[in-house]
Amino acid sequence: MTATRILVLNSGSSSVKYQLLDMATHERLAVGLVERIGEETSRLKHTPLAGGGEAREQNRRIADHAGALKAVADELAADGLGLDSPELAAIGHRVVHGGLKFTEPTIVDDAVLAEIERLIPVAPLHNPANLTGIRTAMELRPDLPQVAVFDTAFHTTMPESAARYAIDVATADAHRVRRYGFHGTSHAYVSRKTAELLGKDPSEVNLIVLHLGNGASASAVRGGECVDTSMGLTPLEGLVMGTRSGDVDPAVIFHLMRVGKMSPDEIDILLNQKSGLIGLCGDNDMREIRRRIDEGDESARLAFDIYIHRLKKYIGAYYAVLGRVDAIAFTAGVGENAAPVREAAVAGLEELGLAVDGELNSVRSDEARIVSPEYARVAVAVVPTDEELEIAQQTYALVGDAGDRNA
Ligand code: AMP
Repeated sequence: MTATRILVLNSGSSSVKYQLLDMATHERLAVGLVERIGEETSRLKHTPLAGGGEAREQNRRIADHAGALKAVADELAADGLGLDSPELAAIGHRVVHGGLKFTEPTIVDDAVLAEIERLIPVAPLHNPANLTGIRTAMELRPDLPQVAVFDTAFHTTMPESAARYAIDVATADAHRVRRYGFHGTSHAYVSRKTAELLGKDPSEVNLIVLHLGNGASASAVRGGECVDTSMGLTPLEGLVMGTRSGDVDPAVIFHLMRVGKMSPDEIDILLNQKSGLIGLCGDNDMREIRRRIDEGDESARLAFDIYIHRLKKYIGAYYAVLGRVDAIAFTAGVGENAAPVREAAVAGLEELGLAVDGELNSVRSDEARIVSPEYARVAVAVVPTDEELEIAQQTYALVGDAGDRNA
C-alpha cells in the first residue's frame, strides 16, 4: 500500500487545528479543531469529509496537548483514518519561527527540536506550542517522519537591506534582532497561485501579496522570491490588524513606560491584543465594521480609513521596491471577502496602473479570480489561501517515496 496521506497539525498555545489530506487524490479526508485546551470548557470539533459523515463534537475537559492529540487520533480512528494507518506518510507541523537556519521544510530530529527551542525568545507565544505539538505527535508515531514547515521560511530570501533594522549591528546580532516575516506559507502559496492565474511561471512575475486576515501582512515577491515583507522580528510590525497596531514609532513604548507608567508586559498586551481595529473602534471583524459604517458610525469609519491608509502606504512602498508590478493579490478572511477593502486600497492609484472593476470585485466566489478591468496594467487578483494544503504539499514533497517504506 502506498502512503499518500499527510496529517497537518497547527498547534497553538491552547488549540490544535488539523487536517488529513490525501496527496494522491488531492482529497481532504477530515478537518477539525481542539479549542480551550487546559480549561474546563475544552471542545473538539471533528468533521469527516470523505464519505460525507456528520461533524462530531466533544465537550469535556482536555487537559493538555497530549490529551488533545490522543482525542484527535481517536476521532480519526473512528472514521477508519487512524494514525496507525499504513497510508499515513508523514505529519506536517506548522512552526511559526524558524529563524535564519530553516529556509525549507525540514524533517524533525533532535537537532531540529533544539533549534526550534533556541528560537523561543523571539517567538515566545508560538514556538513552545508548536514544539509541544511535534513532541506529542512523535510519541504517538515515533516511526513516522515529522516535518516542520516554517512561517518564516519564505521570507529568508529577503536581502539584508530589507531584513536589517537600522540599529547598532552588534546589539542586533547579539539578540538576533532583525526582520524575519511571518505568514510565509500563505505568501508562498498565494504567489504561486497568482502566477498560475496570470498564466505565467512564478519566475516571470513581480507581485504584491496582501494577506489580510485577523493578522495581516504584505509581501513584495520578485520572480517567486520574497524581497520584502511587512512583519518583522515578531508579527506586530506592519499593517493595521484585527487586534495589533502594526507600525508605531518605537518611542511610543518608552513614552508609555515613563509617562503612562505601564510595564513592558502591559504594553505588549496593549499593542498585540488591544490595538488595531479592535482598539480603534471596539470591533475586529470587518463585516461588523462595514455594517456600522453603513449605519453612520464615525469610529468604525475612522478605523476603516486608518486600516486602508496603512495598506495603501505598503502598496506604494512595495511598488517602489519592485519597480514593476504584474499583480496585487488579496487573500485571507478580509482580502478574500471584503470587496470594499479591495476597492478602497487601490482607489486613486490609476496612475500606477491599478483599478478594480466594480462588478467583478463584488462577485463572491471561492475561486482565484482577477477583479481588475481589462485595461488595467496591473492585475488585481483575489486568491484564496490554503496554508494546510501548502504544508501538506511541502511535507509530501519532502518525504517523497515514504510510501515505499510502508509497502
Ligand atoms: P482569517 O484570520 O484569515 O481567518 O480572517 C478572519 C477575519 O476575516 C475576520 O476577523 C473578519 O474581519 C474577516 N472576514 C471574514 N469573513 C468576512 C466577510 N464575509 N466579509 C468581510 N470580512 C470578513
